[in-house]
Amino acid sequence: MRAYNFSAGPSTLPLSVLEEAQREFLDFAGTGMSVTEISHRNKAFETIVQEGESLLRELMHIPDDYAVLFVQGGASTQFAAVPLNLMHKGKADYIVTGNFSKKAWQEGKIYGDAACVASSEDKTYTYIPDVSAIPFREDTDYVHICSNNTIFGTRYVEFPDVKAPLVADMSSEILSREIDVTKFAVIYAGAQKNLAPAGVTIVIAKRDLIQNPLPMCPTMLKWKVQDENKSLYNTPPCFSIYMATLVLRHLKKLGGVKEINAINEYKAGLLYDFIDNSSFYTNRVEKKYRSIMNVPFVTPSPELDAQFVKEAAANGLVSLKGHRLVGGMRASIYNAMPVDGVKALIEFMKKFEQENA
Ligand SMILES: *Cc1c(COP(=O)(O)O)cnc(C)c1O
Repeated sequence: MRAYNFSAGPSTLPLSVLEEAQREFLDFAGTGMSVTEISHRNKAFETIVQEGESLLRELMHIPDDYAVLFVQGGASTQFAAVPLNLMHKGKADYIVTGNFSKKAWQEGKIYGDAACVASSEDKTYTYIPDVSAIPFREDTDYVHICSNNTIFGTRYVEFPDVKAPLVADMSSEILSREIDVTKFAVIYAGAQKNLAPAGVTIVIAKRDLIQNPLPMCPTMLKWKVQDENKSLYNTPPCFSIYMATLVLRHLKKLGGVKEINAINEYKAGLLYDFIDNSSFYTNRVEKKYRSIMNVPFVTPSPELDAQFVKEAAANGLVSLKGHRLVGGMRASIYNAMPVDGVKALIEFMKKFEQENA
């Protein structure tokens, strides 16, 4: 039986996509070869890259003056690529709302004067700072945010209105809700949360801002070079890009981002409503900023939390253990988590509460 997989990443993928990949695993697009075997210069593969790019442009309404790149090294490598491509005056502002944005800030400090201009660490990242009251610096090269905080389960509701280019790590929510891409200079996302298996990272960057990477920037991290080479500067993660394209096709067939967002709101609503109506389970995040992708919660004790995770797994609800920084549980309910998976989780939570309250 297929488990309901609540892992934060790598995470569950649409079953129909997995089946499609399985069907054509030995013979990709009539080549007589597996997609894992062919050259990245093979026409059939180039077509897949181009289709992936154009689907992403269509689904996210990405204007033509933005580059759309498939790169490697995970979102963590982009923590360095951001300053290396954008930090011309040596100054950048970071909003720290969790572990990943803190890491991005720390990476930024290697290359220049990266400042944390707002943080929610004072309340263990259970909220997003009021973006209208942040003292951004006058001549900063960019402002960096993480739009959805995978570990702590928060998300931005409004984005900061800044003069400087706005850069966002959207790894754990890309394609889960409608975003006005033109508000951002750069959006990047590791694919393994909402889009594909691990190995590929999406970068969406306004072309006129990426023409002058710092001289020390490694060639592989120059977005301009990746753009000029249509993401085929070197051997790309072919299988992950192929899978991303299948997921994007699937998303388009579902009705696009607006439709998946409605489903996501519905799924998250079911789970939060259940938690809020229970005196046994708690979600500590300020309601306004609750993520619809990652839902952390606790029972009354760490012992019960551990028991919950174990019993849930025995019931086919897996990877519910919270991040080591937070403890408790975390249900990651990305695009590919079916409504039935969330309902099954809630039924299990009810039963566990009855047995242990
Ligand atoms: C998972 C995650 C990362 C790290 O991604 P890697 O691909 O492992 O480098 C960074 N930012 C966010 C928001 C994430 O969820």
